[in-house]
Order: sequence, then structure tokens, then C-alpha cells
Amino acid sequence: GSYMEESRVANQGSDTHDNIAIRSDHKSYSYNQLISSASRISRLLSTGEFIAGKIYNIKYTHQGARIGIVAKPSAEFVAGILGTWLCGGVAVPLALGYPEAELLHVINDSDVSMILSTEDHMQLMENVAAKCAAQTSLIPPVPSSSSPESAAGSLGIDADAIFHRNIKQTSEDPALVIYTSGTTGKPKGVVHTHKSISAQVQTLAEAWGYTSADQFLNCLPLHHILQLFCWFETCFNGSLTYKIHVHGLFNAVLAPLYAGSTVEFMPKFSVRGIWQRWREAYPISGSNADDGITVFTGVPTMYARLIQAHDAMDRELKVASAYAAKQLRLMMCGSSALPLPVMQKWETITGHRLLERYGMTEFVMAISNPLRGERKAGTVGKPFPAVEVKIVAEDESGSDTTGVGELCVKSPSLFKEYWKLPEVTKQSFTSDGYFRTGDAGTVDEDGYYIILGRTSADIMKVGGYKLSALEIESVLLQHPAVEECCVLGLPDKDYGEVVCAIIVPEVETKRKQKEELKPAISLEELSFWAKDKLAPYKIPSRLILWDSLPRNAMGKGREEMSRERLRYLEA
Ligand code: ATP
Ligand code: MG
Repeated sequence: GSYMEESRVANQGSDTHDNIAIRSDHKSYSYNQLISSASRISRLLSTGEFIAGKIYNIKYTHQGARIGIVAKPSAEFVAGILGTWLCGGVAVPLALGYPEAELLHVINDSDVSMILSTEDHMQLMENVAAKCAAQTSLIPPVPSSSSPESAAGSLGIDADAIFHRNIKQTSEDPALVIYTSGTTGKPKGVVHTHKSISAQVQTLAEAWGYTSADQFLNCLPLHHILQLFCWFETCFNGSLTYKIHVHGLFNAVLAPLYAGSTVEFMPKFSVRGIWQRWREAYPISGSNADDGITVFTGVPTMYARLIQAHDAMDRELKVASAYAAKQLRLMMCGSSALPLPVMQKWETITGHRLLERYGMTEFVMAISNPLRGERKAGTVGKPFPAVEVKIVAEDESGSDTTGVGELCVKSPSLFKEYWKLPEVTKQSFTSDGYFRTGDAGTVDEDGYYIILGRTSADIMKVGGYKLSALEIESVLLQHPAVEECCVLGLPDKDYGEVVCAIIVPEVETKRKQKEELKPAISLEELSFWAKDKLAPYKIPSRLILWDSLPRNAMGKGREEMSRERLRYLEA
């Protein structure tokens, strides 16, 4: 079967597709409407047909073509992905909030030939497309249950047959290129196949008991991090852990759709909006709304902000909010470590012990606390049934007795490869075929895993973001006045660390600097210049000018040496 077809099985006997698949912007979209739209997109993509007199600028696309999808989380976004799969394409979800340079990088890197987008982003995408080889096209609006077109949405198209014929769950053909967060370097394109995706959605639905009765409230982005950043910027002051894309796309969209659940997208993230939505679903006096919410999944910072907002409520609202939250079936957390105080406070307020789990772009989710049974604080639980985890000591000699080492994972949901990075792919696997996560961890006496951090260095932690110094350096080096640079995190009481750039100006600039008695480059100049090249939170907030950078004979150890010198100078 297929993702959609299976939903019918999960629908426990009901063999219509009139169940609501998606709710967004106060509209509902049935499975039927979603699937009809997907097959329409598929037809457009493969034949270039024109529909209903509207010109959709779609040309013929070949099997395996990368189709970029740029839309806010919506029925159109999901239909875009499914439509791409139906015609044998590879979906590349792109973030709305990317600075143009990063967007172009991803489009060029993954050879996107067609960008599907919605009306609200069309202009932007056309500008981008003009600078690369991609074409753009409109995703036809998905007819909602209340729209006059909705009848056309359920023309009796045999959705199961369509999906069954066109999407083979056993296929090892690429289905999705999704980018990592770029914490340890430039974001890498991770290639998932229909096989790895379907293995994952089945595992999640089973492990967490997703059914057609579930309704998800989703305010996670469905692609790369910066989308989240833009959404959250104003409410979270940038202090957010960001690694969300597979979390949103798999845990809160694809797996629920596989299970026949309803996914509701929040138009705009706000903690007060979430509380309000829960209260609407479960009014303390009165009966539950039909469009209830049963499952919620978020990142630790979301829960921290929800707690803050709850603290600020008056007594009556507090009680009503806590009551409503209690009625949900399941609340989950992940993407970065859940701080103990957040977990405890959440449990006190809502009665929910958050289910924490561990995942990454390369295998989506692999280790999880149980739906039933003990959810152990400070751990990410146990491997899913078909997952094997082993801990490899740093020195590979196996002599390590502390039980701490790099987590290595084997799973049916493992990615196929890093897009166009065969060497990196090769290095990421042990000789016996385990994927090296780059995360350090250990396992306790009950078999629960504990994540201890990254094994790789050069990571800064700025207000919950983990940034790669290397990535920022490589951008700053493009500035004409910059000869050399070293980026490092400096301790900061508000943000944990702030991004500091140590720059050695280029000779000519240096000379002018001496003549004109002004700095070769100011922080303002640098920030302004970097604005369209780096996401705002990656732009250095401190700048130090040096004549040269300390190095050892091998040209290495730069970062530590610079840090040491800085400490010495500032003492
Ligand atoms: P890149 O691979 O480009 O450097 P990234 O690894 O940050 O970026 P993601 O795949 O989005 O990109 O994030 C996966 C990482 O998130 C994991 O390797 C792990 O470090 C972290 N992570 C996920 N869940 C948890 C958790 N529950 N606790 C601690 N860390 C977690
Ligand atoms: Mg990674």
C-alpha cells in the first residue's frame, strides 16, 4: 500500500476518504481533496496541462527531477510533496525565510528544476528563479470542504489506486532531499527514499499510537531551520533551538497522515495562541469541540515559553488552560535536550510527562521514551524495535570502559546518501554499516540512552542555537577587507555565548586604517554587508581586529590559540 492507502486501514473500517486530513486557516481539507489535488499536481508536472483556464507555468519534468516546494505549512505544501511523489519526482522542501543566498545555495546544490509555490510567495520565487536554472509554478489551491470546488475534489477518484500504482513503498528511488541544520558545517542534503520514509512513518505511528482519531496541532516548520527562525524571531528573541525540520515533517505531518489523523497547522506561532487553541478544544465548562486536539509535539524552548505564558495568566485562565492541556492524549518533545526544570514544571502544570525522543535528519527518529511505561527524565529512551544502536569509543580500540562514546545507528529509516557527497557518505558509516551520528552518548542500566553532546568541535551555542564557526568564517572571508578571520563563541550571561569575529584586515585596508586613523572595518559595516548572506543570528555581534592570527606550524589549533590570546589580552 501507500501512505494514504494505509490511512484507510487505520481508519478502522471506514472506507471513505472524507476524513479531514488537514486544517489550516480555518478551512478543512479531506483526504479525498488532498489526494485529488496531489494527482492534479502530478499530472501538471508530468504533462504540463493547463487547468480551469489558469496558466500554471509547468513544463514537463522527468522521473527523479528535484521539485522545490516553497509554501507555508498548508494543504498546498502537503499536496506539493505528494504530487511530486506521484509523478516520480524528488521533493525538496525549501524554507521561506532563507536569505536569498542560502536559498540559491540549496536550489543549486540539489539541482532543483522546478519550484512549486503558492500565490503569496510567487513574486519572491520568480526573483530567485531568475538567478538560477529553475522554473517556477503555482501550486493550484487545494479545494477546501466549504469551497464550491470541493465537489470536484471528490470526483470518485480512486485515491488508493492512484497511490498504490505510483508510489512504491519498497522503492529505493530518492523521494526527498532534506537539508541538515548546518550545525557542524554547511547543511548537507540528506536523501531519503520511499522505503526509508515509509519505514519511518510506520514506526512512529505504531510507537506513539497514532490513529484516525488523532488531531495534531502543528506549529513546527516543515523544512530547514530558518523558517522557524523567522516565525519565532519576534516572540522568542531568537533564543530558540532550531533543529526542527524532520521533527515537523515526519512526526507531525507524514506519520499522522499515514495513520489517518488530522493535522492542523497554526497560521502563526504564538504561545498564547496555542493555549487558546487548547482551551477552545476543551472548554472547562461546556462540551469538547469536534475539532479537538489530541497530540502536540514541540522543541524544549516551546515548552519553556508555554510555561512562561502560563505563569503570566490570571488565576481563572491558568486553571482553564491547565485543564485543557490535560485533556490531550500525548505531548512530545525533542530536537535538542529537554532541560529537567522544564520537564518538571510542565508536568506540574499539565500533568503530562513529556515524551522525549532522539532523532536527526539522516534517520529521522530512532530512540524514544515509551508511550506506555516509564519516561525517564534526562534520557531519550530506548531504540525503536527495528533499530540497532551501538556506542563506539572515541579511539575505536574498544578499550573504553566508561561506556561513553559515539552513538552509531542502524535503522530501516536510514537515509540513502548525502546528496552529491559520496565521500562524506562513506565516512559517515562504520565498517559494519552503522551510521555515525556525531553525538556522544551512553546507556543506563535499564537500557535508556543519554545524549551527552556532539563529538565534533567548533560549535557555538548562542541562545539555544548551535552554530558552526566554520560556516560563518567562510562567509566573512568573502568580504573584500577581510584577509583572515576566526569566529568563536564568547561567554555571555544572556545568550550563553555570542558570536565574535576576529578579523585580520587585508593589507591595503590595513594601510588606510593607519593613515585615516579609523578601523579597517566596523561591526556595523560588517553586519550590513552580511545581512543577505547569513541568517541574522549568525551575524557576529562582536568584532575584534588583529594584525595576524596565531597558528601552529601545521596551521592548526587556530581557534584555541585565538581564544587563549583573547583571554590574555582581555584579562
Ligand atoms: P548538521 O548535521 O548539518 O551539522 P544538525 O546535526 O544539527 O546539523 P539535525 O539533523 O537537524 O542537524 O539535528 C540532529 C541533532 O539534533 C542530533 O545529532 C542531536 O545532536 C540533536 N538532538 C536531537 N534530538 C535530541 C535530544 N532529544 N536531545 C539532545 N540532542 C538532540
Ligand atoms: Mg547532523
